[in-house]
Amino acid sequence: MKTTSEIIADKELIAYCGLYCGACRNYLKGKCPGCAGNMKAAWCTIRKCCLENDLKSCADCNLMSLDNCKKFNNFVGKVFGIIFNSDRAACIAAIKGKGYDTFAAEMAHSRKPSIGRKR
Ligand code: SF4
Ligand code: SF4
Repeated sequence: MKTTSEIIADKELIAYCGLYCGACRNYLKGKCPGCAGNMKAAWCTIRKCCLENDLKSCADCNLMSLDNCKKFNNFVGKVFGIIFNSDRAACIAAIKGKGYDTFAAEMAHSRKPSIGRKR
């Protein structure tokens, strides 16, 4: 894996849960290939669900509403969201509203892997 400090806009770097791997420290340090290519993330039920249903992310899901999805709103995810100040539901809403390319461009510009939680 290549180390880079350059944050690029690439919709392929949007994780299934809506995070932007392209601005994640681990991706930039070459420690992670991003959600899609990270076979070590096979534990993740969101990733697994999107792969099984052939979805680019939960933004494309018609199976149920995000609010009602137990996989998306799992306890560990909520704890991580608080620790890392990330709001994945807001990311998914932004992808739905703006599309993948614009979301990737905005996240690259903000240099953040997630839209932050409102405090
Ligand atoms: S929580 Fe799951 S879907 Fe989101 S980046 Fe991590 S492995 Fe990917
Ligand atoms: S919202 Fe839930 S059911 Fe829909 S793709 Fe995401 S994890 Fe799967």
